[in-house]
Amino acid sequence: MDMADRYLSFTGTAPGRFLTRRLGLPQPAALRRWSPQSPGFEGGVLHLTAGKSELSGPEFPEFPSPSDAPAAVLLDATGVRDVAGLAEVHAALHPVVRSVAASGRVVVLGAPLSSADHHQAAAQQALEGFTRSLGKEIGRGRTVNLVRLTDTSAAESTLRFLLSPKSAYVSGQVIEVGQAQELDVDWSHPLAGRTALVTGGARGIGAAVAETLARDGARVVVLDVPGASADAERLAARLGGSSLALDITAPDAGARIAEALPDGLDVLVHNAGITRDRRLANMPAERWSSVLDVNLASVLRTTDALLEAGTLRRGGRIVATASIAGLAGNTGQTNYGASKAGVVGLVRSLAPRAAAEHGVTVNAVAPGFIETKMTAAVPLFIREAGRRMNSLGQGGLPVDVAETTAWLAHPASGAVNGQVVRVCGQSLLGA
Ligand code: NAD
Repeated sequence: MDMADRYLSFTGTAPGRFLTRRLGLPQPAALRRWSPQSPGFEGGVLHLTAGKSELSGPEFPEFPSPSDAPAAVLLDATGVRDVAGLAEVHAALHPVVRSVAASGRVVVLGAPLSSADHHQAAAQQALEGFTRSLGKEIGRGRTVNLVRLTDTSAAESTLRFLLSPKSAYVSGQVIEVGQAQELDVDWSHPLAGRTALVTGGARGIGAAVAETLARDGARVVVLDVPGASADAERLAARLGGSSLALDITAPDAGARIAEALPDGLDVLVHNAGITRDRRLANMPAERWSSVLDVNLASVLRTTDALLEAGTLRRGGRIVATASIAGLAGNTGQTNYGASKAGVVGLVRSLAPRAAAEHGVTVNAVAPGFIETKMTAAVPLFIREAGRRMNSLGQGGLPVDVAETTAWLAHPASGAVNGQVVRVCGQSLLGA
């Protein structure tokens, strides 16, 4: 199979491990991912504090403390207000970091940066550099992320995600969680009774998103171009959902979706995307406009249409798809990079207004190198570089983006808004 990472499979064997160690080659860890048989980590969460915690809300009874080697460490650094407080971060993590299990997690909790106290802001911003640096060195498939928050109850869905195998390919991220009402949530089927539409859902990342949202209880509508309708129909039938054959660039796409969903929509995942790579000097206008149209203009058009029509219900979620190419830029991708950066602009501007006016959150996932048909088409050398040039030393899988989407789509994620979360194994590109 084209898409397989043969090097990763090889280093997973005894001779492969032996040979690559002798040659001093990288040895990416086999990442632990969610499965129905092993949905969580065994080993518990070690709770640590640096400074005097400034969090309100309940403590974290849902994350049991470890008996032995922790699967994860949760460091509450919200009370760190100065450089002396940062020494407590070192003192807390230095003795335990080695003992965190393979594929384990380090989650640092920080406070919003103060505009009135530059010592606090310096210390809290320092946590970002700390987190990203630890992510680069920790190894063994372990991840490190920073969550800025004030209230623990609004952050439960985020912490559950980050402290689980579902966040296998999310590392080096800074996520801000605001405040929201506490909800009664069915954590095993959080999307039960909700409808989710995934554009470009027939294959690749979109198909994994459809599958994961269906696992979480959603009734899924798989939208894709008419040419992909056989795959879309097959997937929809398997997931007990429906399919919609529609080119998302059609001027009336929003109206057609609204028509197909008279009972409304709860989760809109803008996943359809294309690449038409060429350096700018060689890029005909058609390559520019087709990429901008699919990846950005149609996202803007359908979002506007579905919000205006009231198809997206209160409590709704929009998850758009950016890319690390939109954050870092990429050779041959001025069109694609522009379109994906545009998605980031859309998310940041619309998020507060959509929440205030429609009760809908707007976030984006920004995938790095994910093993799909899109990346299988990348020339071998660049493909191999893309795979290895991140802290986890391997490409991600479509399911990694899907799990991140499911967290953002979660009914309890109402306090996560306007965020762009990279699913890139902490890629060196644009880091
Ligand atoms: P893919 O090419 O495997 O699948 C994309 C799907 O979108 C296809 O089913 C395609 O038919 C559909 N589609 C394309 N144009 C459409 C249109 N006009 N209307 C409706 N559907 C349309 O791609 P993928 O790798 O699964 O990528 C999914 C998304 O993730 C894209 O937005 C892509 O830019 C983004 N992304 C992917 C990667 C990666 O490494 N694979 C990295 C960063 C971002």
